[in-house]
Formats: sequence, structure tokens, C-alpha cells
Amino acid sequence: MSDKEPIFVTRPVLPPLEEFIPYLQEIWDARILTNGGPYHQRLEAALCDFLGVAHISLFGNGTQALLTALQAADIDGEVITTPYSFIATTHSLLWNQLKPVFVDIDPQTLNLDPARIEAAITPATKAIMPVHCYGHPCDVHAIRTIADKHGLKVIYDAAHAFGVQDAQGSILKYGDLSVLSFHATKVFNTFEGGAIVSHDKETKQRIDQLKNFGFERDGSTVALLGTNGKLSEIHAAFGLLQLKDIGSALQQRQVIDQRYRQKLAAIPGVTCIEGLNESTANYAYFPILIDEAYPLSRDALFQHLQDKGIYTRRYFYPLISNSPVYCELPSADAANLPVATRVANQVICLPIYPGLSEEQVDTVIAAISEAGRA
Ligand SMILES: *Cc1c(COP(=O)(O)O)cnc(C)c1O
Repeated sequence: MSDKEPIFVTRPVLPPLEEFIPYLQEIWDARILTNGGPYHQRLEAALCDFLGVAHISLFGNGTQALLTALQAADIDGEVITTPYSFIATTHSLLWNQLKPVFVDIDPQTLNLDPARIEAAITPATKAIMPVHCYGHPCDVHAIRTIADKHGLKVIYDAAHAFGVQDAQGSILKYGDLSVLSFHATKVFNTFEGGAIVSHDKETKQRIDQLKNFGFERDGSTVALLGTNGKLSEIHAAFGLLQLKDIGSALQQRQVIDQRYRQKLAAIPGVTCIEGLNESTANYAYFPILIDEAYPLSRDALFQHLQDKGIYTRRYFYPLISNSPVYCELPSADAANLPVATRVANQVICLPIYPGLSEEQVDTVIAAISEAGRA
């Protein structure tokens, strides 16, 4: 073991505690703890403003938001999705009695490969649920074209994509709905939290109804099978405080991203991943792929780094399609998913978070390059 401080793959960003006290004081004074209170309303408005989207509905976590987004889409049958994601993506389909159909990913962006979507469409297909993996935008235009041609809805799992933009603005504007996560490990966090981005007032109202047990605005009629998806005032207040520093947090991530890219480029067998579309990134993750030109296997490197006190993650390994919940699906066959299968065996996500020092980044790089020379 190293005698240095361990380096973790991520560390939640926390503003100074004393800055949060006045927010808490306001909650204590007003005695409004939840149910869409003043902080909840302010955070929804502030996020619409910051992200440049029309409507946001806050949720207690990203998974509840995914569940409700699919419920709001009001579909049954099959949904095309990626095996290269966090398990919540597909769980949200099963909870809605929808059948996941896995389609392989693009080897460059690691996002759902639009060229392979049409072959997976059947008369039962009702929607596509792509993931902006690592915050790299999907090929949103190709996906829209396919969806329009076949009359499918598009619901983006945008859990990684907070603040990501293309030349037209927020990538959250694409698709019928986009879902964010504000979990502690994400770029912007409210401890736990999430949101659905929608494009018109009627949809936003329906989502807000679904997340509040199905109550209509009269507060008594219940015509929909809703859930409790609400975000508390404490979480919303923390989000408002967190949002103040988001610019600096994203900038610090960018500096780390550039340092890794510059120095890792020289190491044979190590490939850095980039989003293909021209976009403003959020540097949410720093995935690298380890291939045969590197002297150690991915797992040996993972262990080597851990022995040096560097805790990386094999994210996303194993594939969703390999988990016992999904492996029996016909589309889960590894032969159907060659790119995702290869990438899941090659990927390591390196530490990246605001506050990770230059020296720590260099320690990670040195550990990879030394093991690479062994
Ligand atoms: C984090 C994450 C989720 C789930 O969000 P929670 O807020 O943890 O429920 C869903 N999909 C992806 C891709 C994620 O990374």
C-alpha cells in the first residue's frame, strides 16, 4: 500500500457548511419541508435558466424520474436501449412492464449506435431509450430521424449529461423527455435527486401530477396511478447553493481532463474516449480503454492502481445485459453486442472531480505509465 492519501474515482463536491446554514434557517423559519415549497420552485426555475430548457420537474432521485418519464410516455411493448449503462436505465423499463431490447454501441462514442437501431425495430417497438454515456452526446439527429420514421418516442437517460451543450444549446432539448440524476456522484448533486426535462406545459403538469400520487391540481381528484417522487426542501436548497459554484466545478474538471489527455496519449495500449459531436462537455468521467498493446490486462491494471491507493472503477462492467435480471433476453446475447462486450472488458474510469490536485492526477498517470513499461 502507498503511504499517500488514497485517491478515489470521485468525491462529492460540498460547499462550506456555513454557507448552507442560512438556507436551513429559512426552512426552519418557514416550516415548509416538502411538497413543492419555495426552494423547490426556485431550484426548478434556476435549473431551467442554467440549462436553457423550458420545463423541469424535480424528483427524489434519478431512478424515480426515469420510472415516471416512461409512465408519462404512456407506452407498452418494446423499448430499444443500450447495454452499456447503469442498471437503473433498464430497471426503469421492467418496472413499467416494458421489454428492453439491447442494441450495440458505437465504438467511438460508446453510445447507442444509430446504424444498428432499425434492425432491432419490430411491430412491438414503441420507444428508444438512449444514454448520453459519460456526458458525451448521442447522435441525436440520427436517432430522431429513425424515431420519426417509425413513430417511436425517444426518452433520453441524461443522468451523465448535466450542462452538456451542442451548437444549438442544451442537449436536453432533444427527445420527448430527458432524465437527469443529481446523485452524490454526479456532476451536479443534491445528495439524492433527479429531474425530468420536458418541452411543453401540459407534459410538465402531467409529470408533476404523476410524481405527487396522481393528484390533480384541485388537490383531491386522483385519475392517474402516481407515485411519491418529490424532492424535499433541504435537497432543493442544497441544489441552489451547489448551482452557484457549478461553473468553477466544471472548469476544474476540464483542466484535469486535459492533463490526462495530454499525458496518456503517449502510452501505447491506452485510448482516451471523446464525444464525436461538437459539444461543450461536462467532463463527468474520464474513461480509458486498455488494449493488447498495454502489457497488463485491464483487471491487472485496476488491481495495480488499487495497490497504489488509486481507486478507479470499471464503469460499465459488467454489462447490464450480463446481469441475471436481463441475461435471458434474446438481445442480451454477447454475439449481438460485440462492441459493448469488448469495451466493458477494456474500460477503466480514472479519478476526476473538483479538488483533485495536479499532483494527484500526475500520480495516477505515473502509475499507469510505469506499469505500462513493466
Ligand atoms: C446515476 C444514474 C442513474 C440513476 O440515478 P439515481 O439518481 O442514482 O437514481 C440512471 N442512469 C444512469 C446512466 C446513471 O449514471
